[in-house]
Amino acid sequence: MSANYNNYSGQPVYIMGSDKQQTKGRDAVSMNIRAAKAVATLVKTTLGPVSMDKMLVNQIGDVVITNDGATILDEMDIEHPTAKMIVEVARTQEDIAGDGTTSAAVLAGTLLEKAQELMEQGVHPTSILNGYRLASEKAMSYLDEYKIDIDSSDVEILKNISNTSITGKASESYSETISTIAVNAVLKVLENGEVNIDDDILIVQDKGQKITDSELVEGVVLTKKALHPNMPKKIQNPKIALIDTPLEVEKTGTESKIQIKSADQMEAFVKEEDKGFKKMVDAIVKSGANAVFCSKGIDDNAVHYLQKNGIYATRRVKESEMKSLARATGAKLVRSLYEIDETDIGSAGLLEQVGESDDAKTFIKECSNAKTVTIVLRGGTEHVTENIERVFDDALHVIASAVEDHEVVPGGGASEISTANILRSFAPSVGGREQLAITAFADSLEIIPRTLAENAGLDGTDMLIKLRSGSGKDKYVGLDVYEGKVVNMVEKGVLDPVRVKKQAIKSASEATAMVLRVDDVLRADKKDMMNVKPEHNIHNYDASGMM
Ligand code: ADP
Ligand code: MG
Repeated sequence: MSANYNNYSGQPVYIMGSDKQQTKGRDAVSMNIRAAKAVATLVKTTLGPVSMDKMLVNQIGDVVITNDGATILDEMDIEHPTAKMIVEVARTQEDIAGDGTTSAAVLAGTLLEKAQELMEQGVHPTSILNGYRLASEKAMSYLDEYKIDIDSSDVEILKNISNTSITGKASESYSETISTIAVNAVLKVLENGEVNIDDDILIVQDKGQKITDSELVEGVVLTKKALHPNMPKKIQNPKIALIDTPLEVEKTGTESKIQIKSADQMEAFVKEEDKGFKKMVDAIVKSGANAVFCSKGIDDNAVHYLQKNGIYATRRVKESEMKSLARATGAKLVRSLYEIDETDIGSAGLLEQVGESDDAKTFIKECSNAKTVTIVLRGGTEHVTENIERVFDDALHVIASAVEDHEVVPGGGASEISTANILRSFAPSVGGREQLAITAFADSLEIIPRTLAENAGLDGTDMLIKLRSGSGKDKYVGLDVYEGKVVNMVEKGVLDPVRVKKQAIKSASEATAMVLRVDDVLRADKKDMMNVKPEHNIHNYDASGMM
């Protein structure tokens, strides 16, 4: 929460106007729980492969249709502070695990709902907090036993993990394309056991064709074209130079004005300048390069010489794209032009410009040792490509988690049911009021398979009973949502990264604890705070952080 405290004491000092509103004790907790639950309910129907989409319409009428919990919560304008904490749960989940946002939000809502029930039976929030903490710790250590180690290079397993994360978000007919591309992309950029998705896997949207025409380019795709129509548009095994300095003559400042008095002088000056450009281009030619990417400007005179030498060139390439080109082709960024030599030159299998209009693209592909790759995402309209980009993002993150951690758990509610079973047998060993809370935690975990069942039009209670008893015999059984049957999810290939499951439990438990610890909600208006003088050394009070 924002800092409503005095800097020195470390003790919270809430600063209120005289017309403050205050809600105390149980009422405060109930009110907060209601708000948090409302948010969880909002995304509940999107959980799982057979679930509903949400259409989000913002104030100016833009439409987003999505099945992604994180996107929904992000796009909604949620005001209530406790409700915001659930949004925060989803965000943390997205940041750390890249998937499982709906599960985390739904779990947090249910933990709070069950806590409310316990409080109504007279259990003190402290006992609930303790019980939940013990349950969460036990769940974590159980997941370490329960998980399955995988071979990080097993393409089929990785595709299964990807499919588990994206089914329901993309039509069945696309998931094969998406998962294949995403797995190949992650494996290509894997370095020292780590994957840097943000820097090394670029996504370029290319409207017009079908989603299944999307492709993985081992290299970089720029929305750029050659500077001159006569420059080559297709070069096999291009020799690539990355020039990080302008191919221009520095403009003369006012200090050093050149006095040109006659036509002869003018000609001499132009000739001299021309020589300069020729010298620049000669340096490039000498290095062996036949494709030039320049982060700065290229003078038209230089363009002329480049073209005459059969060199492809484009200018004002973004800094990030220059870095990507370097990672893909092995070229070095050249900062002083006359020092360029063959060791600075990078390679690729093919350079190709596609199209002539403003959205023409240049592909630098088939790079043999590309550490940066590009997914060219195709689709009919922007709505389609944007939705598919979010789907790719999910797929890439779960694959990366699985490859980095090389461990998974079976999905379809299998891990939740099995963990719930373990917690139920663990609860009596703790005893007391905490025991009740641990059982409530177990019940809460079961919201995942229950919701998966209900969203698929199955009877939640009925399926839960079958799952509980099935899980006792085979801990890997979960719900086959399409058939309405209880089956071994490992055999079905329905797999989620452990990181996703652990983080969901962790962030949901933490948010729950925060809500339960509050027993006093004070509401102040911003205007009251205006009276606080800076010399009181009190941090700015952020009214949005409170009720
Ligand atoms: P989240 O935002 O929590 O990832 P999703 O809508 O992606 O929500 O649903 C994830 C849940 O769906 C996971 O529990 C996963 O195991 C389950 N799931 C995915 N595919 C299947 C499947 N084919 N059968 C059963 N459960 C599945
Ligand atoms: Mg998911």
